[in-house]
Amino acid sequence: RAKLDGRGSLQLFQQTFHDELVRQHRLAERLERAIDKRELSLHYQPQVSAVSGRIENLEALLRWTPADGPPVSPAEFIPLAERSGLIHRLGDWVMEEACRQQAAWRAAGFTESRIDINLSGRQVSRADVLERFEACLARHGLGARDIGIELTENVLITADSRILEGLRRLYHRGVRIAIDDFGTGYSSLSYLKHFPVTAIKIDRTFVRDAPGQPEDRAIMEATVFIGHRLGLEVVAEGVENEEQLTLIREMHCDLVQGYYFFRPMPAFDIERLLVGLVTTSPGLSG
Ligand code: C2E
Ligand code: MG
Ligand code: MG
Ligand code: MG
Repeated sequence: RAKLDGRGSLQLFQQTFHDELVRQHRLAERLERAIDKRELSLHYQPQVSAVSGRIENLEALLRWTPADGPPVSPAEFIPLAERSGLIHRLGDWVMEEACRQQAAWRAAGFTESRIDINLSGRQVSRADVLERFEACLARHGLGARDIGIELTENVLITADSRILEGLRRLYHRGVRIAIDDFGTGYSSLSYLKHFPVTAIKIDRTFVRDAPGQPEDRAIMEATVFIGHRLGLEVVAEGVENEEQLTLIREMHCDLVQGYYFFRPMPAFDIERLLVGLVTTSPGLSG
């Protein structure tokens, strides 16, 4: 139909909207079977010291590769799992797998690197998630310093008292607790003083724009300053080039994470890195 009047485009919109709902519904159904079908895995992205280039920490990132199709991005399926409630089962799977892997690495003699897992909003809305996390650590013979967590500021400010109590308990045991995507939420800085956290991860959008935008640089500098004054570790995420890295080093960020150093990769490739078989990080030289 060539002539698309107001009604035509409304119908088109409704049709597209309907198709999208159907697609999401099918995706959710497939995701529900993904655990049993062993389609999930964890990739790990190293965070390196901005000064020495040494690998200090690994962020665990969930991957879904359906047997019958191309990989689906977590940016798509995590929000879907949040809406459907499946996030609790997925989250438990991530916890279990990260602990299993870390215990295996510890047993193999890799004693240095921590793993951080991501916890999202609805996951944390279930009050016993942190107790289950602690139980998971214990089950695998791991200590507080072996696995940390990342939460966004929006998750922190909406957390109920039982979760905050749980976070405080973990904090006092020495668990690393990082605020993810820092600077993108709608919270005030004063919340930093109320929440038991050990690290701030400056959002990728600031890092991306810093070389050309004085405002982004100013926000980053202020974040590093306040972070350090509060005794927090400061991580810059999404570092993709030399120019960004130079700025980040000048700002004295502690850790950097990004494609410029390493992409998220399967456990096997991480092992090769940890044993020193490969050192392909450009940021390491000089
Ligand atoms: P996030 O926690 O902020 O994770 C960082 C994301 O940035 C990852 O995307 C990572 O691959 C990507 N990234 C890292 N370095 C660079 C870079 O230099 N440039 C660019 N453009 N991107 C970079 P990914 O793996 O697609 O994950 C997206 C989001 O999905 C995560 O953002 C997190 O919010 C969520 N997610 C991933 N795994 C889990 C999980 O196990 N549980 C929960 N609850 N959420 C997860
Ligand atoms: Mg994260
Ligand atoms: Mg992040
Ligand atoms: Mg993010």
